Amino acid sequence: MSSHVWCHGPKCHTYSTQDRVRGSKGNKVLRTRKVKQHTTSQWYNPNNFYNYFCSNSCYNEFANAHVQQIIRIAPRTEPLETKIEDPVRKKHTHNYSFGEHSWYSTTIKKVDEESNVG
Ligand SMILES: [Zn+2]
Repeated sequence: MSSHVWCHGPKCHTYSTQDRVRGSKGNKVLRTRKVKQHTTSQWYNPNNFYNYFCSNSCYNEFANAHVQQIIRIAPRTEPLETKIEDPVRKKHTHNYSFGEHSWYSTTIKKVDEESNVG
């Protein structure tokens, strides 16, 4: 794999930042940013979108421009569900000089699907 890819943001080349300025005097342009590929690094993950976009803005603009095509890749026609145990609601109370303050927490525990097989 090449050591960089061009940012896929459709408007990357329109942002006025110094690092995008290229070309010789009298013939300057704003150019799409390169995104360095750290393919030899242990932490490199080919599925991280930051390998293909220089910023969140460029990613969002790409997603907004192509959202209809993107959702056709994996359409969601029904909701997904994650099995959980009955949520446990707990009251917490603290006594302060000015009075009592209480709040509730709810613990939601996912059911371990693996152990429920069979
Ligand atoms: Zn970009």
